[in-house]
Amino acid sequence: MKVPMLDLSEQYASLKSEVLEALDGVMSSSRFILGDNVKKLEADIAKYSNVSHGIGCANGSDAIHIALQAAGIGAGDEVITTPFTFFATGGAIVRAGATPVYADIDPVSFNLDPEEIEKHITDKTKAIIPVHLYGQMADMVRIREIANKHNLIVIEDGAQAIGAKQGEYSVGQLGDAATYSFFPTKNLGAYGDAGMVVTKNDDIAEKSRVIRVHGSKPKYYHHVLGYNSRLDELQAAVLNVKFPHLDSWSELRRKHADYYTSLLNEKVSEFVKTPVKVEGYHHVFHQYTILTERRDELQSYLNENGVATMIYYPLPLHLQPVFESLGYKKGDFPKAEKAANEALSLPMFPELKEEQQQYVVEKIAEFFARK
Ligand SMILES: *Cc1c(COP(=O)(O)O)cnc(C)c1O
Repeated sequence: MKVPMLDLSEQYASLKSEVLEALDGVMSSSRFILGDNVKKLEADIAKYSNVSHGIGCANGSDAIHIALQAAGIGAGDEVITTPFTFFATGGAIVRAGATPVYADIDPVSFNLDPEEIEKHITDKTKAIIPVHLYGQMADMVRIREIANKHNLIVIEDGAQAIGAKQGEYSVGQLGDAATYSFFPTKNLGAYGDAGMVVTKNDDIAEKSRVIRVHGSKPKYYHHVLGYNSRLDELQAAVLNVKFPHLDSWSELRRKHADYYTSLLNEKVSEFVKTPVKVEGYHHVFHQYTILTERRDELQSYLNENGVATMIYYPLPLHLQPVFESLGYKKGDFPKAEKAANEALSLPMFPELKEEQQQYVVEKIAEFFARK
């Protein structure tokens, strides 16, 4: 048996006629940039996030950059974030001209630990970017309290967590803004690059809209430095077809996660830590990530046996060569470093079959039984 990390073909087969019709609609209209499909998607995703504005942009990385710039974050400002995330979170801070300041994670949720944030606040700190890693929200309630106390902006990197909740709060509701990625592998994936800023803040929304079109307002008059980061109509049309299915796909991910957890806890609980659904949080399992000390060996064994896995992420941001000038060193964030050494994400997508999950866990159990 072969189990891929993710297989988008079944989903496409189930939506094919609708998708092709939507794409044909765009091409027949000859309106390719910032038209009705983008407007509809922006309205739907804003509503889904319980906020008033959605601003479609070219990808999730630009969304973070645009939100930072729109919130007035730039040169001389420090932005506190997690080192255990995809590169784009740190990259966007530097691209905005600000300095990333890392704080360690909570090893159970893998998310930024609010108590660590406070240790790193200085008089230059202007913002916090929590990342809702693997589909589970960071503790936004506590982060909002800290931000209010110190007068900081909060921008949520929700790239992996559309549909996640903390209590009744959705992604975007407690932050000044949140950003999504619709990269094809994300829980709501386009057929190319796409992203969005969502916000309840009228000023951030207005500025984000201007920044994504070269800072042009009125057209051909430029008061701020923007760039081209628009969401195109073809991608928005695909996303409009997919969006109504998002919650049912998330439910399937949650069901697969429970099944993995029950199988793993039954068979290899001494060797593998299964992901924790923190109480009161709605986890949408963008990834199902286990921890094991023999991670690299296990990954090779699974690979030899037809099971694809991924390491998200093998090198924390504070140790990335490109950020060397920030002066961090190994040992600065032990919890993030441990997670980077032990995390292994297993195949996860809504269409995953029970037999595939059984095979994955059988091979994991075989690996630990062998040596
Ligand atoms: C995917 C991702 C991004 C970037 O999104 P793109 O659309 O690929 O630019 C940012 N942050 C996190 C945590 C991500 O997983």
